[in-house]
Amino acid sequence: MAAKSMQGLEGRLKRGLERRVPLANLCTMKVGGPAAFLAEPVDLEELRSIIRAAWSDDLPVLVIGSGSNLLVCDEGFPGVVIRMQGVFRRLSHKAPTSVESGGAVLINRLVERCLVWDLSGGIESLYGIPGTLGGAVRMNAGAHEHEISNYIVELECIDMERNHAEDEPQIYILEGEELARGFAYRTGPLAGRDVLTKAVLQIPVCENREESKARLGEMKELRKVKHPREPSAGSVFRNPPGKSAGIIIERCGCKGWREGYAEVSRKHANFIVNMGEASARDLYRLAMKVRSAVLEKEGVELELEWKLVGLP
Ligand SMILES: Cc1cc2nc3c(=O)[nH]c(=O)nc-3n(C[C@H](O)[C@H](O)[C@H](O)COP(=O)(O)OP(=O)(O)OC[C@H]3O[C@@H](n4cnc5c(N)ncnc54)[C@H](O)[C@@H]3O)c2cc1C
Repeated sequence: MAAKSMQGLEGRLKRGLERRVPLANLCTMKVGGPAAFLAEPVDLEELRSIIRAAWSDDLPVLVIGSGSNLLVCDEGFPGVVIRMQGVFRRLSHKAPTSVESGGAVLINRLVERCLVWDLSGGIESLYGIPGTLGGAVRMNAGAHEHEISNYIVELECIDMERNHAEDEPQIYILEGEELARGFAYRTGPLAGRDVLTKAVLQIPVCENREESKARLGEMKELRKVKHPREPSAGSVFRNPPGKSAGIIIERCGCKGWREGYAEVSRKHANFIVNMGEASARDLYRLAMKVRSAVLEKEGVELELEWKLVGLP
C-alpha cells in the first residue's frame, strides 16, 4: 500500500498530509483499516490540489464526513481519504429564509443554528443524525417524514472524474429540475465521483420557536430510546416500500444474532452493532446472513443502506 507518494502535496497543505491513518477512528462503527493518506483541505484551492495530486499518482479518492454511514474493510483504503475542514465547515444566514452551508457542516449544528435564526419548517426532525451535510445529501438522510432534500435548493460540487482535456477538477452547480430529480428515498443527486463543497438551503420561518426547540429535546429522547448505544453505522438496510426493515428482521428472529463481535442489536433489529472488537468482515457477514434469512422467510430482498468501502 502507498507505493505512490503524493509528493506534489508535501508541505503545501495547512493541516498537512497524514499517512496510514486508521479509518476506525474516523467512522462511528469503529472499524476500518488504514487510509494510505488522509488529507484535510481547508479551502477549495487545497481540495483541488489534493484531487490533482491523487490523479497524477493514480490513487483512488474517498470523501468522508462523520463516517456514520460507512463500513470500511479491515485492509483499509489504498488511496487518499479527504475530510473537509475550514471553509467547508462554515454556515451563514443569507436572506430571511436562505442558509448557506459548507459540505462538512454537522447536521446538528445546522439545525441548532436554524432555530437561532428563527427558521424551522420541520428541519428539527433531522436533529440527531450524526453526519455532515455532504453525507446527508449523498444519502438524502431523513427522519420522521422529513428529508434533507426538502430544504436544498442549490449544490456546489467538484467533479472528481478526471477530464484529460482539462486536467483540472471542475466545479459545477446543481439546481432546479436536475437537482430535484436526483433525490429519492435514501439517495441523492451526487454521482459517485462528486464532492459536495457547499449548499444553499431554503428553510421556512419558524412558527413557534419554543415548540421547535422542545422538538429538539424530543428527537434526542426518541433516539436514546430507539437506537442502540453501541457503535454502529445507522440502519443497515433501506426500508422496502411501505415496510419497515427493522420489523421484518425482528419477525425473522434475527435480533441478537452474532458473528464474532458483531451483533444484530437487541434494541433495534435494523442496526448491527460493534460489541467490542468486531471486524468489518464480521459485520458484513452478519448483514448478509440477515439478508438471506429475510429473503428465505419473507421473500423480501433487503437492500443495504450502509456504504461499503473495499467490501463486495
Ligand atoms: C446512531 C446513528 C443514527 C442514524 N440515524 C439516521 C437517521 O435517522 N436517518 C438517516 O438518514 N441516517 C441516519 N444515520 C446514518 C448517517 O448518519 C447518515 O447517512 C448521514 O447523513 C451520513 O453522513 P456522514 O457525514 O457521516 O457521511 P459518511 O458516512 O462519512 O459518508 C456517507 C457517504 O457520503 C459520502 N460523502 C460524505 N461527505 C461527502 C461530501 N462532502 N461530498 C460528497 N460525498 C460525501 C461518502 O463518500 C459516503 O459515500 C444514522 C447513523 C448512526 C450511526
